[in-house]
Amino acid sequence: MNDFEDAVPLPEETDTLRRVKVCEVGPRDGLQNEAGVVTAADKIRYIDLLSRSGLALIETTSFVRPSAIPQLSDAEAVMAGIERRPGVTYLCLVPNERGYRRAREAHVDAIAVFTSATETFAKRNINMSIEESLDAFRDVVQSARRDGVWVRGYLSMAFGCPYEGAVPLEAVVRVASALADLGVDEISIGDTIGVAVPEQVSEVAQALQQVMPVERLAMHFHDTRGTALANVRAALHEKVMTFDSSSGGLGGCPYAPGATGNLATEALLDMLHGMGLETGVDLAAVRAASDFIGGVLRRELSA
Ligand code: MG
Repeated sequence: MNDFEDAVPLPEETDTLRRVKVCEVGPRDGLQNEAGVVTAADKIRYIDLLSRSGLALIETTSFVRPSAIPQLSDAEAVMAGIERRPGVTYLCLVPNERGYRRAREAHVDAIAVFTSATETFAKRNINMSIEESLDAFRDVVQSARRDGVWVRGYLSMAFGCPYEGAVPLEAVVRVASALADLGVDEISIGDTIGVAVPEQVSEVAQALQQVMPVERLAMHFHDTRGTALANVRAALHEKVMTFDSSSGGLGGCPYAPGATGNLATEALLDMLHGMGLETGVDLAAVRAASDFIGGVLRRELSA
C-alpha cells in the first residue's frame, strides 16, 4: 500500500536516494519522432550542448538498418563527430549482431536493446515476436558483456498498448525478467503511449522489484495526457531513481498526432530540483540545447 497522504520527499533520505539519474533521449527517441530533417552536423552540435549540461547518460543514435529509419542513417557520422566528454555515457540502440558490430566500429561503449511487453507492438515495431527479439539480443548482450560495453534494455508498452489495450502486469514482469536474465545492466520500462497513472506505476515498480534490484530499474514516461510528472513522483516513492526524458519534450507521440510524447527534461529537472533532489544537471544548459534544436526544427518546444 502506498500512502500518498504523507507526501514527504522520499522514504529514506540517504545520499543515494537523493541522487536521480536522468537519461536524455532527445537526440534519438526525440528526433526520430520529429518530422523535420536534421543534419548530422546539427545533431552533433545538439548532443555536445546536452553533454555540457551535466547529463551523464545521453541516447545519441541507433544502429538500425539505414533503410528502416532514414533519420538515423548518419549514426556513424554522429558518433565520429561528437566530443566525448569524460563521465558522459553515449547510448546507442542496437537491434542485432550486425548493428552491434557497426556500433563497436564507431567506438560505442554503451548500447540499448529493445522489445515490447505486447506481441502486437513487437511485431509492428521490430517485426519479431517477443521471444524472437529476446533470442536475437542474447548474442548481442553476451558480446557486449565480453567487450565491457554497458547495456540498457528497453521495454515498450509496459502500461498500455495502442493495439492490445491494457497490458497485464504479469506480461511486464515476465519480459522484464527475461531481459534481466540476458544480463542487461539497466531496464527502462516505457509508457510508450502515455496512458500510465500513478497507482499503476507503483504496482509495476513494486512487482519488478520482486525480480530485480531497483538500482537496475529506469522509467520512461510520456506526457500525452499530462500524467508524466505524477508518474515520476509515484516511481520515486517506490525508490526508482532513473528517469528518461527528452530536452524540450522533443518527439511527438506517433500514436496520437499532435499530442505530447516524451516528458520534457526541463520539466523533470524543475520538479526534481524543487523536491530537493540532485541530478547534477544544469537546467539552463539543457534549455540552451533545446533552443538550438528548436531553431533547427523551426518549432517551439515545450518547457
Ligand atoms: Mg519515448
